[in-house]
Amino acid sequence: MAWERVKWSCGHTGAMQLIGKMTSREATKAYQAGRKCFGCWLLSVWRVKNDPRYALENRWNLALSITEGKGIRIYSAETKQNQSPASTDDELRDKKAALIEQLKSIDNELSSREIAQK
Ligand SMILES: [Zn+2]
Repeated sequence: MAWERVKWSCGHTGAMQLIGKMTSREATKAYQAGRKCFGCWLLSVWRVKNDPRYALENRWNLALSITEGKGIRIYSAETKQNQSPASTDDELRDKKAALIEQLKSIDNELSSREIAQK
């Protein structure tokens, strides 16, 4: 097990606890570099789902303590990207994914009612 330094697309840097061979650790680092860090991801999920944790003043520290529990350390402060009310592409994608999930559950509900009526 080793702590590997990682830089994410959101601009945060940190370290992740990675296991396995050098090649798979490098692959994980490359993959992580193309996405936002787990902290930013958590905040975007809380925001989209209207989670009360998003309204907390110490939400970033809360997110960091959760990422730490998953073997991810993020060294820097919350980015402006998370604080700005304007939607970023990532946030719109998250929102879209959440809406699609909602549609699926409505579909399931409707089809289970149709089955019950037969
Ligand atoms: Zn980040």
